[in-house]
Amino acid sequence: MRINNSQVALLLVDVQNDFLPGGALAVKEGDRILPVIQKLQGQFSRILATQDFHPKDHESFAANHPSKNPGDVIDLHGLPQVLWPVHCVQGTWGAAFSEQLQTSSWEAIFQKGKNKSIDSYSGFDATRAVNLRPQDGEKALEELKHAGVKLMESTQVLTYV
Ligand SMILES: [Zn+2]
Repeated sequence: MRINNSQVALLLVDVQNDFLPGGALAVKEGDRILPVIQKLQGQFSRILATQDFHPKDHESFAANHPSKNPGDVIDLHGLPQVLWPVHCVQGTWGAAFSEQLQTSSWEAIFQKGKNKSIDSYSGFDATRAVNLRPQDGEKALEELKHAGVKLMESTQVLTYV
């Protein structure tokens, strides 16, 4: 199936310093998606991005719960919540996009996680997993496939542009 260009957008999800090597919640080899994004960006007229953008008192941070550690799961207002290290705090270097990315052509940036009581994970594209447990990323991709999500390599994406 070929998709009309007006229906196509490149969605960049949380390509922020805290999720890259050296960041507070670094994804191992997370910087490997940067060249992929750089290559794809030039092929899309419509580029959107998400930005994890937490207040410092966000309730997903383990540091905001006495005697809790990153990776612990708590009940947060009736929902299970994985606790994370403090990351992507509004106005910090960690919340900023990688300086290796050209952001001037991005059409919109959707900030998320701004409500201190609600965590949010959203959007998919070139991605790497946090992998609190070694196989988390692979399991997530399998779950997405079973739910009907079509996954593709970046070279396949270019055939739709
Ligand atoms: Zn977050």
